[in-house]
Amino acid sequence: MICEECESNEAEKSVIIDGEVKHLCSKCALVTGGVIVEKPSQHQVDESKRMWKVKEILTRSAGLPLNKSIEISKNKTITLDDLRQVNKDKKSSYLLHAENRIKREAAVERNDAEKIVDEAKDIKDEIELIDE
Ligand SMILES: [Zn+2]
Repeated sequence: MICEECESNEAEKSVIIDGEVKHLCSKCALVTGGVIVEKPSQHQVDESKRMWKVKEILTRSAGLPLNKSIEISKNKTITLDDLRQVNKDKKSSYLLHAENRIKREAAVERNDAEKIVDEAKDIKDEIELIDE
């Protein structure tokens, strides 16, 4: 296929640029900075075709990694509340992360504000020196 940018005969990538899909060679695909649409690997194609077990569907919808099995005792069945609890735990961990990030950013801003105040004081001192 012909590259839509440089017209070389090596267009092998589909790239999304400004909402349009263009066929580009790998060099142009990198230079344009668009989103390169990668072909799925054979493994991904196989995964999409296979039938999912109920347990896997539930595990996925709960946002848990597939390879990590949930520990459930034999006489306990999974309920929606169990899944909700998992989501709740996840949400609170997200909230904690967000809170920490805001605190870090606030600390940086406070630091900047202190620097600006210090600079203002220095400027004021310099002006007073000139006035004297
Ligand atoms: Zn090209």
